[in-house]
Amino acid sequence: MKELMYSPAVPVSGGFVWLVGAGPGAADLITLRGKEALENAEVVVHDDLSGDELLRYCPAECEFVFVGKRAGRHSATQEEINRLLVSHAADGKRVVRLKGGDPSVFGRLGEELAALRQAGLPHAVIPGVTAACAAAAAAGVSLTRRGVASAAVLATGHECTGKSGPELDWEALAQPNATLCVYMGTKSLGLLAGRLMRHGHSPDLPVLMVSNASLPGQVVRSGTLETAAALATEAVGSPSLVLIGEIAAHNLAWLALGQHQQSLAHA
Ligand code: SAH
Repeated sequence: MKELMYSPAVPVSGGFVWLVGAGPGAADLITLRGKEALENAEVVVHDDLSGDELLRYCPAECEFVFVGKRAGRHSATQEEINRLLVSHAADGKRVVRLKGGDPSVFGRLGEELAALRQAGLPHAVIPGVTAACAAAAAAGVSLTRRGVASAAVLATGHECTGKSGPELDWEALAQPNATLCVYMGTKSLGLLAGRLMRHGHSPDLPVLMVSNASLPGQVVRSGTLETAAALATEAVGSPSLVLIGEIAAHNLAWLALGQHQQSLAHA
């Protein structure tokens, strides 16, 4: 029953951990529920955020624990993060674990949930806008589209280099009617494009690279599988999300209008 307490507004006695998706970067793209969790937090365990804006929602006496990477300093290990969450919640604190995008998408949510469950601590997940959705919005495309893309696949480019376990079956992923959303794929984009072409994709298949989606430095670049490697080596901003598939061709006229430069949030 404890895990069914979703809302931060529900009074909780004793420790509780909310695993909150911060969204892609812009402070106004967190959910209302996520913001409410920050407003009620006693401890916030957070990664690298694009700014401190979100942390301003927290009470003045809130404790911040930074566990991301910063120049000259190693990020905390996953085990250290798990221990932090468990120990603060066991001390009776209201803890927010704030993660970029959605916590369940390449966010190591599974390990943190397992640690909290093993310790018998109550917790809830608050979803966030994942980078693929923010990138699609920035580029003016729909991830799925009737008759064009019947599936959208979230994949990590790390798999392409074998860095994170067994390699994905890229042949199976090279579906004609799907959009491939590649996280952490900038470095391996040339390799990945080569594999997709070997598995039957056309060299003309459209590719979009969206950097800093939702942030002031947002840039959308377009190319094809054939030119993808060059797209990745141009001075692209970080982080970047790659969208591969026919849907990417549907934004070209819109991009030409320069609409993607507009930022509703800060207009
Ligand atoms: N949990 C996050 C993903 C973490 S993996 C989510 O749901 O979005 C980190 C990768 O996400 C980055 O390497 C990049 O590929 C992508 N990413 C995160 N924020 C982004 C942004 N604002 N613009 C483009 N890509 C982004």
